[in-house]
Amino acid sequence: MVRPRAKTAARGARAGATAGATPRSLVLSEKAARIQALLDELYPETPIPLEHADPFTLLVAVVLSAQTTDKKVNQVTPALFAAAPTPEAMAKLSAAEIAAFIREVGLAPQKAKALRGLAEKLVNEHGSKVPSSFDELVALPGVGRKTANVVLSQAFGQPAFPVDTHIHRLAARWGLSRGRTPDHTEEDLRRIFPESAWNRLHLQFIYFGREHCPALRHDLAECRICSWAATKKRIADESKKKSKPRAKAAASR
Ligand code: SF4
Repeated sequence: MVRPRAKTAARGARAGATAGATPRSLVLSEKAARIQALLDELYPETPIPLEHADPFTLLVAVVLSAQTTDKKVNQVTPALFAAAPTPEAMAKLSAAEIAAFIREVGLAPQKAKALRGLAEKLVNEHGSKVPSSFDELVALPGVGRKTANVVLSQAFGQPAFPVDTHIHRLAARWGLSRGRTPDHTEEDLRRIFPESAWNRLHLQFIYFGREHCPALRHDLAECRICSWAATKKRIADESKKKSKPRAKAAASR
């Protein structure tokens, strides 16, 4: 199921990816195809980074992953899932008891409260099962658009392109979207890339970002994607940043 997009006309114009084949849309589609081919070459396998056993434990892990690393989530979930492997078991714990299991992840009190409410709602309204529709998922406590899309994609195999702040930033760096928010970027990426590739591209973007983009100093010319895909503006901005220290050093000589 493909979820409806809002206000696509304006966003299509923003991304330059509308059906009318302007020169910019041709460039964009070629760029997207080249990025997709490179990511397929670099990351032919796309294992799911968050450890889980079923849709419920995946949902819990994704809720926990907000503003923390997958590694940290994977450290705390074994004990949590041993104590509460099902919605019924999680709903029997208090928020304070859940918080004790997850205190090492950021925002533990809020996440514990959300997990308690989420488990209760699954028991009371969904027969203790994780729903497989976007609207029902985002109606659960602690579940936003990105979390719902991850669950649809990774638990139910539905086409989705979850966009977090990292993917949002990469799409901007690679000149794929000028979206101001992750939601806008998601619309652009869904339009640019074939639906059959969305689920794996989401993970491939994440792998590439983790492997390359956290570096404090990065050279666009050396990068396998930015060297040819970055926007002219970004290349100019980055080269200004790089030349500033040299200019200061020259002035102090
Ligand atoms: S140059 Fe490479 S590492 Fe730096 S932002 Fe672009 S893709 Fe990421």
